Amino acid sequence: MPKDIAKEREDEWFVRHEREFLEKIRQQRQKRLQEELQKAKQEELERLRQLHWMKCPKCGHDMEAVVLEGIEVDRCMFCEGIYFDRGELEKLLLQKQKRRGFFRRLMGLES
Ligand SMILES: [Zn+2]
Repeated sequence: MPKDIAKEREDEWFVRHEREFLEKIRQQRQKRLQEELQKAKQEELERLRQLHWMKCPKCGHDMEAVVLEGIEVDRCMFCEGIYFDRGELEKLLLQKQKRRGFFRRLMGLES
């Protein structure tokens, strides 16, 4: 193989490997940035959770868990607003409906 062709192939090899190496470094940096961003998001969510946990959404005071019609709801200790978790209101309404049905049957309004 002529010397200049050998040299050219050697250069090509280096260029290709250097490109692959740089790409690998770029990907690693990208991955690290993604992980740091994810961690920062988690920390922010945790910070917000701690800040707002059991605080009234209207006045910001502490809330307490109270049992209403057998369902635990959160009540503000200051403005007495009542807040339901997902599904709790439906449960309460369903119970009311059942109870109303019971009383209506009791009074002979329904069969
Ligand atoms: Zn309140």
